[in-house]
Amino acid sequence: MENGITTVISGLKCDNLSCDYQDDSIKLEQYESYINEPCPKCGSPLLTKEDYIQVQKILSLVDLVNALPDPTEESKEKAKISFELNGAGTVNMKVEKYED
Ligand SMILES: [Zn+2]
Repeated sequence: MENGITTVISGLKCDNLSCDYQDDSIKLEQYESYINEPCPKCGSPLLTKEDYIQVQKILSLVDLVNALPDPTEESKEKAKISFELNGAGTVNMKVEKYED
């Protein structure tokens, strides 16, 4: 069975808005070891504990949705949800619907 939601969470971006440091090679499984790790470019934290907690919340929400019964044919709309973390423990969620 295909999951209702597939998560693609990876990479870390520096929380400092005036810094463009970004490492897309960091995997979700590695996030824990990056909590409060300083950005190699500017020294700002790459991932705050608050943001890490938000990521965990998103993941449990996804599990919850995926545990629901299969959607009916009519409701098989697909959407891409993007989450943006800003270091303050708040999540910006963006939902974009798309056709197959
Ligand atoms: Zn930085």
